[in-house]
Amino acid sequence: MLELRNISKRFGAVQANDRVSFTVPTGTIHAIVGENGAGKSTAMRIAYGFYTADSGDILVDGEVREIRTPHDAIALGIGMVHQHFMLVEPMTVAENIVLGSEPGSAVSLDLKKAADEIRKVSDEFRLTVDPNALIENLSVGQQQRVELLKALYRHAEILILDEPTAVLTPQEVEEFFAILRGMREQGKTIVIITHKLSEVLSISDNVTVMRDGKVVGDLKTSETNAAELARLMVGRDVLLRVEKPDAKAGASVLKVQNLSVMGRGESKRVDNVSFDLRAGEIVGVAGVEGNGQTELIEALAGLIPGSHISGTIAFEGRDITQLDARKRKELGIAHVPEDRHRRGLLLDFTLAENTILGVHYRKPAVGFAGVMLDQKGIQRRTEQVIRDFDVRPPNPMLPARALSGGNQQKLIIGREFELPPKLLLVSQPTRGVDIGAIEFIHRKIVEMRDAGCAVLLVSAELEEVTSLSDRLLVLHNGKVAGEVDPKKTSNEEIGLMMTGGARS
Ligand code: ADP
Ligand code: MG
Repeated sequence: MLELRNISKRFGAVQANDRVSFTVPTGTIHAIVGENGAGKSTAMRIAYGFYTADSGDILVDGEVREIRTPHDAIALGIGMVHQHFMLVEPMTVAENIVLGSEPGSAVSLDLKKAADEIRKVSDEFRLTVDPNALIENLSVGQQQRVELLKALYRHAEILILDEPTAVLTPQEVEEFFAILRGMREQGKTIVIITHKLSEVLSISDNVTVMRDGKVVGDLKTSETNAAELARLMVGRDVLLRVEKPDAKAGASVLKVQNLSVMGRGESKRVDNVSFDLRAGEIVGVAGVEGNGQTELIEALAGLIPGSHISGTIAFEGRDITQLDARKRKELGIAHVPEDRHRRGLLLDFTLAENTILGVHYRKPAVGFAGVMLDQKGIQRRTEQVIRDFDVRPPNPMLPARALSGGNQQKLIIGREFELPPKLLLVSQPTRGVDIGAIEFIHRKIVEMRDAGCAVLLVSAELEEVTSLSDRLLVLHNGKVAGEVDPKKTSNEEIGLMMTGGARS
């Protein structure tokens, strides 16, 4: 159905695609996996006419085609759903679907006819959405269905989906995969870009692995496994499951009682949350994003004004509810924030300057009489963080901006871990980080635990919280919907609690 033959594409100094070739048979689900920057999106955007290749051919139905614009691609039956949706918020589902598919006829659009047609397509593929609903009132999962409908409405035979599950809950992923399987049954061909190995294994018939712009593997999914795919993606063996002994939990470090965080108006972002965290254990917080995780961590780190908070936060038996972030840091509370650009780093500052953020007023940054910056001390600390946390390139004088997302994250984690803290608040530690670096960060978190640190871990990645945590709290609507033992629970159980479906 679709074939890429020796596709190459360069952006400035970056060879984004280097003689990429693979074939997608009709009526199959084809996965493309690879780390960030491997060239997956570029290859498929070329097939969709979004970019033009420097060289190479695209074949559709066995014939070489000129695909210069998405228009050409759509005419050939190729549809693409991008990583970031391209819907117009204040318009209805029907308007969005029809938009742009009938050039020149915008004035005379027959929306009623369109709505009927949309209903027909949505019934056929079990993509239920109300054609008259406004986009801004739909959940992310529903918006994604609209994007699919839009492609199907234009008679797409090949659907290209770029990281479609990144924004979905586990339940939504299951429903979404059921829809994709249904489409395959109806003869559609699907290309799905992802970096999640479990998804490749569960949904695809064949898989193409990319690394550094090249195809490094072309496999039948039934004949491969996660370890092999990870090795191809990274170029070396990768430990996929976190290996950790049982926790040896010690004394209570953090005691949170009836903590609430007020949002705008009357709404509570965190609603009467209580829990205990002990030395030497990792407590995970799972939940659909936006259910209070961010505010919970920020309240514990001292980043939310006391006037917005009720309840008490005790650290080693001492009430710290009224202490600011700096005082809490001095007591031994470290924070790896979820948004590394907003809170974690000063991008135009050097790595050295970034490693003393938050500790710039004390040792080792400040030397004699507590006034002079101790350049040697800063240098030593930076070198240590860079070495222990494998930050690349290892040049303390580079601006943080020059590092990849994964290396920026290792720098922040290194800075916070080497304080060293008694309590570690970690939010989304591996978001946007490649699997090689993920393995490394996970190992460091477990090392912190085993050194006696109490760790509170928030992550939207269910795999991550379940495999790292010793105990798991599930947040829904700012409340603790339940606590589960990660070793005994299932994704289904957690997923239900995440969406308010059950309480344990
Ligand atoms: P993936 O989808 O596998 O994460 P991409 O295809 O997006 O990778 O990117 C491959 C490489 O090409 C990366 O180094 C990326 O920075 C670069 N790149 C992609 N698109 C552009 C662009 N429009 N301009 C410059 N560089 C780009
Ligand atoms: Mg991409």
